[in-house]
Amino acid sequence: MSATSRPAAAPLELGLVWLRRDLRLHDHAALHAALQRCRRVQPVFVFDTDILQPLLQQGIRGDRRLLFIRDSLLEIDLALREHGGALVVLHGRAPEEVPRLARRLGAQAVFANRDHEPLALRRDAAVAGELAGAGIDFHACDDQLVMPPGSIVNGQRRPYQVFTPYKNAWLARLRDGAAELLAERDCRSLPQRLRAVPAAAPGLPPLAQLGFDQPACLPAGVDAGSGGARRAWQAFRLRLDDYAQDRDFPARQGTSGLSVHLRFGTLSVRELVRHAWPAARRGSAGAASWLSELVWREFYAQVLHHHPQVAQGRCLRPEYERIAWDESDALWQAWSEGRTGYPLVDAAMRELLRSGRMHNRLRMVTGSFLCKDLGLDWRLGEAHFARWLLDFDLASNSGGWQWVASCGCDAQPWFRVFNPVEQSRKFDPQGQYIRSQLPELAALDARALHAPWAASPQQLRAAGVRLGEDYPLPVVDHAQARRRTLQRYAVVRGEPPGPGDAQQALL
Ligand SMILES: Cc1cc2nc3c(=O)[nH]c(=O)nc-3n(C[C@H](O)[C@H](O)[C@H](O)COP(=O)(O)OP(=O)(O)OC[C@H]3O[C@@H](n4cnc5c(N)ncnc54)[C@H](O)[C@@H]3O)c2cc1C
Repeated sequence: MSATSRPAAAPLELGLVWLRRDLRLHDHAALHAALQRCRRVQPVFVFDTDILQPLLQQGIRGDRRLLFIRDSLLEIDLALREHGGALVVLHGRAPEEVPRLARRLGAQAVFANRDHEPLALRRDAAVAGELAGAGIDFHACDDQLVMPPGSIVNGQRRPYQVFTPYKNAWLARLRDGAAELLAERDCRSLPQRLRAVPAAAPGLPPLAQLGFDQPACLPAGVDAGSGGARRAWQAFRLRLDDYAQDRDFPARQGTSGLSVHLRFGTLSVRELVRHAWPAARRGSAGAASWLSELVWREFYAQVLHHHPQVAQGRCLRPEYERIAWDESDALWQAWSEGRTGYPLVDAAMRELLRSGRMHNRLRMVTGSFLCKDLGLDWRLGEAHFARWLLDFDLASNSGGWQWVASCGCDAQPWFRVFNPVEQSRKFDPQGQYIRSQLPELAALDARALHAPWAASPQQLRAAGVRLGEDYPLPVVDHAQARRRTLQRYAVVRGEPPGPGDAQQALL
């Protein structure tokens, strides 16, 4: 019997929809699939101790990301309760909790959106195995990306190593299959199909019950949940055409700020592309440039899929493992605490600690500064960002760091070294961003602000800045550091850098 003439399978009585990094109830592939297949659905979330316990063991008791998750779940629970249901929230190991709940409720299937990270894939295999033992199906759906990893390969059926050909292939695939790839995964029948739950059913556990402190609040401008995502997206749509010209300036509101929503799935990436792609085709340079950034996200996800060793901090280009990094607690502390004496670097690093946010340009500048000015291993920076970024995503963070350190797919050439002062003059010319994060330098005039050590004693006095007391002297000299970096990286190709390389070194 052909697939098309096969009679529709009988509906299942109950399906669980296991939410993970897809915290919304609309345009949701797993929820849509469950609604197609089951008479009743029950959404569930697990505070997974396999993820949380290692944080507690490292002494991390406050994490803004948990607050973002908790607030997003509260929004979902509230929406479900309006229709006589509720979110089931569990705390424990997912491979035990999900099958136990499915058995207890008599669910015949569990639906989830595929998470492509190596640990998540292993977790899902364990859950699927447990469920299979109980005769319960596990359905993994594609939702997180427009093009799932593995779906875009080159003519030799091999994954792309370079971004531009990947993006061209990605766009060509979109042209051919936009209707299906971008179609809304309709979940509008959810209110009528929810499993009924008594109104008195327990709600979400407080974070303290999970062993965590309650962080005071999310940073200004970040609202959790689909509501927060919708507001941020609507505001950004009005600025989309200006994206290409504004995106590199941290003091402007030039980027979307949607990465945390993409990370936790409080919006659907299809929805973004449904808008950006036609706008790009109509000639909006801003939309085309922004769409490219969404493709970078998918590019790095497929890099992680094809090269899972990057999740263990291994260089994609093995020859870069030969680089000998310096070790210095003092330099590490200066970088991570924002006390290097380079204002743009320090402003960005302090904002990260204060709010969990950092502009893309500044991720490149601070990342380059760590490995190419301080000579410290980029993996230290990768782990620091993983700890603090609100939008931390394994694939994008690893891809970004390997780009900065020149050891990944389509990385910047190793002989290019960002000049932190030039970057500061170019992308924060009036110093508005620096002033917003470093009040001790706020009174310095714009010319002196980018390199305070070069300011005259009168300029410093007039601004009330005592270098070495109110604000540090630079911990390294950039010109010397760059020369050392060129020597350090020369081992990659087994010879000292030529004069041509050195000339190109200043970006
Ligand atoms: C060292 C380093 C580490 C990074 N770590 C992360 C991370 O952990 N999580 C993360 O989401 N992004 C990471 N990025 C990429 C980028 O900095 C952020 O996605 C971006 O700053 C988020 O701001 P936005 O939402 O306003 O982006 P926009 O400029 O509005 O871009 C739209 C979306 O495209 C995606 N995107 C944009 N730039 C990139 C990029 N270079 N690589 C991959 N995706 C991109 C993001 O999902 C973003 O939300 C990193 C970049 C570097 C250089």
